[in-house]
Amino acid sequence: MYQAKKSGRNALRFFDPQMQAIIKERAALEADLRHALSRNQFMLHYQLQATHDGRIVGAEALIRWLRPGSNLVSPDAFIPLAEDSGLILPIGQWVLETACAQLKKWADSEATRHLQLAINISARQFHQPDFVEKVLAAVRNADIDPNKLKLELTESLVLKDADDTIRIMNELNAFGIHFSMDDFGTGYSSLAYLTQLPFKQLKIAQSFVRNIGVRPADAVIVQTIIAMANTLEMAVIAEGVETEEQRAFLEQHGCPFCQGFLFGKPVPVEEFEALLKQD
Ligand code: C2E
Ligand code: MG
Ligand code: MG
Repeated sequence: MYQAKKSGRNALRFFDPQMQAIIKERAALEADLRHALSRNQFMLHYQLQATHDGRIVGAEALIRWLRPGSNLVSPDAFIPLAEDSGLILPIGQWVLETACAQLKKWADSEATRHLQLAINISARQFHQPDFVEKVLAAVRNADIDPNKLKLELTESLVLKDADDTIRIMNELNAFGIHFSMDDFGTGYSSLAYLTQLPFKQLKIAQSFVRNIGVRPADAVIVQTIIAMANTLEMAVIAEGVETEEQRAFLEQHGCPFCQGFLFGKPVPVEEFEALLKQD
């Protein structure tokens, strides 16, 4: 029935045991997800962000779920479900608080004091009526420098309710919290909005970076994004940098920061801190 409705109603769909299995698995996943927070099953992995000569400037925090009986579950497998069910609100709050606590630890040590930490924010989380207060409270409770916290938003989030987005961003920006536009270039951002939104950084989407040296049109898009960021006085970082060829292209065209497997995979905090010592 759900499949029939989804395909535009007034349609027929035959029962298929495979469909039943998918629905069962999804229900089991959601049931487990409901308990994951209270059972401490989430952890953050940290992926370094660096300059071309390997100086680590910060990290992106990426959530992982240690679901009992399975390997680490990647966010793509449960964030959409968490968004649909509303569980993204407490999960997102946990990410925010954990990231702020980590920044506090880093602030206490000379070797890590300079690091910035980026977290991903879901649309539902961002548009909560008290989102601004929640972020400010987290920063205040952890007693950290707001300049070190970066919130990654996607284009679809920004476009959902642009006026509300601009207001919330400006409020947080006034307290020194920065924004980065994630997966830039994959959505339908209006350039007019881009100039109104206080983004400090554009993050060039992995789907373009991957095609540097493969698909000339995508390399041109990468160059254009870098030029645009420079003109609009925004910082720019490339994500998904996997090869030396991609890195060299980015350096040559003026993108100063990189994130990707070439530099380092997302890892638990201890491993991330070990990387800093080799830096
Ligand atoms: P994203 O924010 O665009 O994160 C980048 C994704 O690319 C991460 O996948 C990262 O592991 C992966 N990646 C990084 N470098 C490379 C590379 O060189 N090659 C390839 N092939 N992949 C690379 P991950 O960790 O599976 O996260 C997927 C998405 O889940 C994230 O995309 C983000 O949208 C979402 N996500 C992750 N953590 C959170 C969170 O705490 N809250 C929310 N709301 N969403 C999150
Ligand atoms: Mg991100
Ligand atoms: Mg991204």
